[in-house]
Amino acid sequence: MGKDILFICDRCNALVEGNRTRYVLVLKLFAGTDPIDLDDAERPADFDYNREIHRLIEAMRDMDEVYLHDQVHMERKYYLCAACREALYREVFMDSRRTPDPEKEGRQGV
Ligand SMILES: [Zn+2]
Repeated sequence: MGKDILFICDRCNALVEGNRTRYVLVLKLFAGTDPIDLDDAERPADFDYNREIHRLIEAMRDMDEVYLHDQVHMERKYYLCAACREALYREVFMDSRRTPDPEKEGRQGV
């Protein structure tokens, strides 16, 4: 039954039969900013919030809606064949294990 279903690997375009293991990669990329502090003491007392909001709206008017949304949060799902899963694992995850983490190194010296 599942044998008749075919998936296409999003990385190499290989056909993967439904009864073969396929892998799902979920990629999330989002802005990691802190909440806006409306009581910012550095902001002038006469700061015009309405003017700033209108300035931002004007600046974004001609920008692509999808691009603007993706700047804040984007999530994509990819289907991978076993070979591409292995390549991704070796290229990304194995490399990140060997790359020194500056934060951890800094803590070790303390
Ligand atoms: Zn593949």
